[in-house]
Amino acid sequence: MRSPESAKPVPPAISIVVPCFNEEAVLFNTFSRLSRLLERQCAAGKIAERSNIVLVDDGSRDRTWEIIDAWVRIGEPVIGVKLSRNCGHQNALLAGLASAKGDAVITIDADLQDDETAIERMIDAFQEGSEVVYGVRSKRDSDTWFKRSTAHAFYKLMNALGVQTIADHADYRLLSQRAIRYLGQFGEANMFLRGVVPLLGLKSAVVHYERRPRLAGESKYPLVKMIEFALNGITSFSVKPLRLITALGFSVCFACLALAGWALAVKLMSPDAVPGWASTILPIYFLGGVQLFCIGVLGEYTGKIYVESKKRPRYFVERVARQARGDRPGTGSGVPAHRRMRSRPHPLGVRLQQ
Ligand code: UDP
Ligand code: MG
Repeated sequence: MRSPESAKPVPPAISIVVPCFNEEAVLFNTFSRLSRLLERQCAAGKIAERSNIVLVDDGSRDRTWEIIDAWVRIGEPVIGVKLSRNCGHQNALLAGLASAKGDAVITIDADLQDDETAIERMIDAFQEGSEVVYGVRSKRDSDTWFKRSTAHAFYKLMNALGVQTIADHADYRLLSQRAIRYLGQFGEANMFLRGVVPLLGLKSAVVHYERRPRLAGESKYPLVKMIEFALNGITSFSVKPLRLITALGFSVCFACLALAGWALAVKLMSPDAVPGWASTILPIYFLGGVQLFCIGVLGEYTGKIYVESKKRPRYFVERVARQARGDRPGTGSGVPAHRRMRSRPHPLGVRLQQ
């Protein structure tokens, strides 16, 4: 028989996954804010005490790993995952999701540009039955004009190409363990999470927040990486560009025919027309350009087949730092929440920008 107490809903364990690439300047601040948030939620009885933070070091060259490791050693509710080299944001997220054992797992960037207080609303939505909760930026004034407009153009293009993405949503989201299990069934090496998550078909909700400037440090997404990311997103989701090539080739042929008709008309009606130049040179350049472009797009897809056919592992976990007993959901953290509610000294004894 169930006692009245056992009928009380059990609060879920939450894991927050944070990918970190050379983030020593922000990490301390980020960690303090996130752990305070977990403690508040824990004290309010909304989440289980065994909730934790999974910090993934994506091959940083600064002291990111030393800081993470020190937190584990002093008993903070942290799991540290160190990748053997820099594998990229998406792979760092996947490595974090694989190590996070909470009932629900939230992924958030280390620079806290995404307002962490939206996590509370994400947890509420999870409690109400949503297995995927998207963090959506209601305002992104803190981003540069260039970043804002390229991001908008990217989402528009993705939708035009038939890829279902959530506008103004990046990788700030909550996933249930079931959603993570489903994600694990996607075998592709180029995993574009923003496109894959909507394909899971699980009940979802949206939480809005305002995007802030980076706490400290520089963006780890320079223009080249952004273009690479967008290209990957498009070509791993849509074959429409391949079809566009056919349409483009067809249109160019049609235009050439029209041009030939025009050249013939000029020749017949005006004997002074300098024969030959435009009709010879322009099509050569034009068609040369079109061919190169088409070969490029074909190459993009062929390259994808090449990479996918190798079935390479996405990342290698060099080390996992966790407390012997403790931070794993189900075992209790061993550090009561009220004791952890103190201001934290920096684990390496350094004062970094607050
Ligand atoms: N990041 C990562 N590996 C990389 C690049 C970035 O793990 O190769 C992490 C980075 O530490 C941060 C997140 O991905 O937590 C987003 O990066 P950033 O904030 O620099 O991107 P932006 O907001 O400028 O697009
Ligand atoms: Mg950022």
